[in-house]
Amino acid sequence: MSEQILAPLAACVHCGFCLPACPTYLATGDESDSPRGRILLMRALARGEIAATDDALNDHLDACLGCRGCEPVCPSGVRYGAGLEAARDVLARAHGLPLRARLILAVFRHRWIWQPVLTVSRWLRATGLPGALAGRGRVGFAMGMLDASQRSTVNGRLSTVDRRPGVRPSTCPSVRLFTGCVMSTLFPHVHRATERALARAGCQTTRPPGQACCGALHAHAGDLDGARALAAINVHAFGDSDDLIVVNSAGCGAMLKGYGHLLGGEDAARFSKRVKDVTELLDEGRETRDLRDRQSTCLTAVYDSPCHLQHAQGIIHQPLALLSEVPGLTLLPLADSDKCCGSAGIFSLLEPAMSQAVLDAKLDAILAVDPVPDLVLTGNPGCLMQIGAGLRARGSSIRTAHPVELLGARHD
Ligand code: SF4
Ligand code: SF4
Repeated sequence: MSEQILAPLAACVHCGFCLPACPTYLATGDESDSPRGRILLMRALARGEIAATDDALNDHLDACLGCRGCEPVCPSGVRYGAGLEAARDVLARAHGLPLRARLILAVFRHRWIWQPVLTVSRWLRATGLPGALAGRGRVGFAMGMLDASQRSTVNGRLSTVDRRPGVRPSTCPSVRLFTGCVMSTLFPHVHRATERALARAGCQTTRPPGQACCGALHAHAGDLDGARALAAINVHAFGDSDDLIVVNSAGCGAMLKGYGHLLGGEDAARFSKRVKDVTELLDEGRETRDLRDRQSTCLTAVYDSPCHLQHAQGIIHQPLALLSEVPGLTLLPLADSDKCCGSAGIFSLLEPAMSQAVLDAKLDAILAVDPVPDLVLTGNPGCLMQIGAGLRARGSSIRTAHPVELLGARHD
């Protein structure tokens, strides 16, 4: 395991170019909360120079978002995320995960647990109670997250964007939708919008049965065995076909694309090569589609780039290119849109103080946009809920939505 930590980090020359890209370093100013400082700690762990039970080591690695914002700015090509995952696996084996993390990961390990739990959460959301209780404090923020997961209509304007189907069918192949856990239960409207957008692009979408949670929460927390078990279920569920696997959650997409590395073997590698984010796929056929029949909307929005879309998958321009074609949508620039929002899977539950510090910077940037946008668009459920809850806590009327809700808006 020490080699799995050292090898991805070996190229680090301690230049420090990554420091300004690190949200936790920007929040604390502490070198040990920077990529460079954490790399030194992880190397010391791998070489046996620091015990896996060392409090300071655990504190600084626990406080890392795993956002991988340090990777694209690194001139040496350090694979920070791979090193962090291996280090967290060592720490989890040495002293176990905190009880709260174990409980959350246990829920998402089994469909028969997470499906009813999240379905009941959706029912609670439908009562309007989370919206009424959303605000500051632990409970208010949790309620805000749940409220922010619902379809954002912005006075009904989201449903008036595109009344006609795509004019010219493209050569899009048949695709299989990765449904996931949170996306399938709290964001079914995003799945429906994804299918509509793909249908307009000429793609036939199916939902293979027997899928599991992608395992990203487990991998990022250091439970690699749990992540592998879920990955194996998904590789089996999608079968041995050439159909593309389309995903609309940035965190899940990055995880699915990493199954080849996580599981090893040809089946997993072939699976990972089939995976595409929905914006990646739609962008590929963009020039063949005729958008003239689209009805105009009247919305202003900013786009916030999810870490696991931009840093882990290298998908940066595609969502913006697609959104720029939505008639009547005014996209405003957002400062530091490439920075993490502090969600990072279960990070916001395990490290609430650091998560809030990182979120505050994001909210400050959003609330400084002039004129005030209607929407923050972002393609990851954790970011949608984290930013949405933060905006509610600040008393803002700005809402969050997935880009595909505009690209595949309803015909009503
Ligand atoms: S991770 Fe990359 S950018 Fe950061 S200190 Fe090391 S070599 Fe420099
Ligand atoms: S993964 Fe994110 S939080 Fe962690 S060191 Fe890199 S930039 Fe900083």
